[in-house]
Amino acid sequence: EFGLKPGTISTGKVVAALKALGFDYVFDTNFAADLTIMEEANEFVNRLTKGGDLPIMTSCCPAWVNFCESQYPDLTKYLSTCRSPQSMFSPIARYYFADKVLDKKPDEVSVVSIMPCVAKKYEVKREELGQDGIIDTDLSLTVRELARMIKSAGIDLENLEEENFDSPLGYSTGAADIFGVTGGVLEAALRTAYTDVTKEELPDDGIEFKAVRGFEGIKEATVNIAGIDVNVVAASSLGCARKLMDELRADIAAGKTPKYHIIEIMACPGGCVNGGGQPFTNGDYEKVKARGAGLYVIDKNKPQRKSHENEDIKKLYDEFLGERGGHNAHKYLHTHYFDKSNPYSKKNDVSLQTN
Ligand code: SF4
Repeated sequence: EFGLKPGTISTGKVVAALKALGFDYVFDTNFAADLTIMEEANEFVNRLTKGGDLPIMTSCCPAWVNFCESQYPDLTKYLSTCRSPQSMFSPIARYYFADKVLDKKPDEVSVVSIMPCVAKKYEVKREELGQDGIIDTDLSLTVRELARMIKSAGIDLENLEEENFDSPLGYSTGAADIFGVTGGVLEAALRTAYTDVTKEELPDDGIEFKAVRGFEGIKEATVNIAGIDVNVVAASSLGCARKLMDELRADIAAGKTPKYHIIEIMACPGGCVNGGGQPFTNGDYEKVKARGAGLYVIDKNKPQRKSHENEDIKKLYDEFLGERGGHNAHKYLHTHYFDKSNPYSKKNDVSLQTN
């Protein structure tokens, strides 16, 4: 959009551009990605150790969630109940930051998210993602829309002085950064789940799960955690998702134990770096790969690379959420799913899904 090389790290410039456009506070969705890992890893470990439904399937991609609800409603019980980072961030901005930090009422702030994704526009309209009649996210804009806004306002992005995210919802670990590339959510979850189960930290040279990196449609690995072989798989594209869901459905019908413990699915081939709201690549997949490589560089250079090391996340639990997976965490960070296999159901009404 601005002539920079694909994969150029431009986070600070985007913050500066958003400030120039008039936003009072600019936070990082990656803060909520760390939060997602705290809840999702906790949910996985509970299911693993207490005999819950496995595999656990990631739920941060709304296009995949919608696909699962409409095509495989019998399998939605395997979806993690965690909301996506966008939908975790918004109630935290409204009910923690606005209420507790700014001393404003939750409906006195507008929460706008910038996403790589058009399906996130649909997600914010899901009526269960709100509290007391207030929808959590007012508006979800795509990267392309933001670029258009920056250009229309005459902002010279390339020459903007970089700015930092505001605090306290602006700090994130490297685990959060890799959410944007296929396999990243899985890798981030493993970094924290390992510690949750073993009570030990992965060594610095052991936190990169390279087997789930790369742009193949389906990538599998087995990770030994405290003597348990945990089988994981990451799929990107709904075609690959269908393959995995057909296998899972067949295994269940045959009374077999499902092959995987964790399934990550991203609807866009390559993950959000190739999202429908990103600048067009005109079929040049090398640009998508360069964006993914940029995220791994950000992860590598972060002082903390595991979500449970984020001090601001710990503070959020101490001051507001309470326990991981507890009452408030469920109220603000988790959701539920619907059977959307009937195309005439109100839940499938596309008129409700425009933004
Ligand atoms: Fe959106 Fe695509 Fe990312 Fe899914 S993979 S959240 S559809 S950008």
